[in-house]
Amino acid sequence: MRIERHRRRFFGKSRESAKCSILNPVVSKIPRKLVRIEGNGPDDGNPLLFGLDAESLAARMAAVGEPAWRGRQLAEAIYRQRVVELSEITTLPKALQQRLTAEGWQVGRPKIVQVFQSKDGTERYLVHCEGEYALTVETVWMPEGDDGESGDGTDPSDESAKRHQQATLCVSSQVGCAVNCQFCLTAKLGLQRNLTAGEIAGQVLTVFDRQCVEVGRDRVNLVFMGMGEPFLNYDNFMAAVRLLVREAGLSPQRMTVSTSGIVPGIERFAVEPPEFRPKLAISLNAPNDQIRSEIMPINRKWPIQTVVDAVRLVKLRPRERITFEYVLLGGVTDRPEQAAEVARLIRRTGLPAKVNLIAWNPGSGIAYATPQPEAVEAFRSTLMAAGIPAYLRKPRGRDIYAACGQLKRTVEG
Ligand code: SAH
Ligand code: SF4
Repeated sequence: MRIERHRRRFFGKSRESAKCSILNPVVSKIPRKLVRIEGNGPDDGNPLLFGLDAESLAARMAAVGEPAWRGRQLAEAIYRQRVVELSEITTLPKALQQRLTAEGWQVGRPKIVQVFQSKDGTERYLVHCEGEYALTVETVWMPEGDDGESGDGTDPSDESAKRHQQATLCVSSQVGCAVNCQFCLTAKLGLQRNLTAGEIAGQVLTVFDRQCVEVGRDRVNLVFMGMGEPFLNYDNFMAAVRLLVREAGLSPQRMTVSTSGIVPGIERFAVEPPEFRPKLAISLNAPNDQIRSEIMPINRKWPIQTVVDAVRLVKLRPRERITFEYVLLGGVTDRPEQAAEVARLIRRTGLPAKVNLIAWNPGSGIAYATPQPEAVEAFRSTLMAAGIPAYLRKPRGRDIYAACGQLKRTVEG
């Protein structure tokens, strides 16, 4: 019953999916028991506090006869002090702590249950999410980043921030993905379910605890580039961003969201207030519509020009650039003439842009080839020579299957 209701909510009403008919065949092939689209959400009467903003926490407190300002206290404890047990929230009177616990309330922040460590320092985490549809999701910590989102001169710099200057945290927005990109291992899972706002923001704060990140002092880049398509889980994704910004104090200018080009999502994103809007990355991945449709079937629904038109609606901050991601598939998208075509395409958009090149990371059962290092360098040089800043993303944590496109939920939870 409940699963059916969630299926209807996703397929029947969501703006994106209703329009995106090519996604339906992909999703309907997934065994029924896996198609649990929504987790417990703030409005489902769930007993988890993590994921609710100060206002909703205040409403919850008011509903149990407490003053509304208890909501702000709870938000402060959960998101700023990162307390994970009700009994440790020192601002709450003991009697209230006990009453809330007796009524079944819990903080319920996602927990790291397994850590995979790469020889390059990258850590991949399995993060367990509580709730009715409990599961694990993957999150990746790159202590030195991957040269994709740091050091490109677009971020406000702060010389006093010494620790974690380069660190990048890669966050998942869904378990699996319904967008059938041919080169991506996550696609093989299909969509298992959307993550809630709390499950998305929880990945961040739980890893911050492990890495002793101090918000306000340490500068960590967040990239929403883990499992899933954030713009097909738009409301929960943006609610997570607002939690991280408003309640936890992170800067949206240190966050980048990547989309495969979900146009209705980009259009909504374009009108988000700048104080809650991360930077935008578009997975271009091909020099033209013909090749893009082959490797990213979503391109048949929203071809390059349509995506670019939507991106143009985003009002960029001073010095902000749109990132175009480009996965180099050996012999398929890494040829010299294709580099020139990409340069022309990007120049034609007139957008302030940069390109992040990613050499394809292999995944079992996917028949593409990793490009030759010379081809990668030549591609980058061509873009640079055409005046387009191009960076090569370092493959991080390939030995622990933590690199781009390799996340596939290796352990069931
Ligand atoms: N769904 C979103 C964000 C997650 S994927 C999107 O597609 O943009 C993040 C990035 O990893 C995308 O740019 C995607 O093209 C890239 N990617 C996927 N599989 C990859 C692989 N096997 N090797 C290298 N990059 C890959
Ligand atoms: Fe989904 Fe992104 Fe992978 Fe495409 S590349 S299948 S959109 S996670």
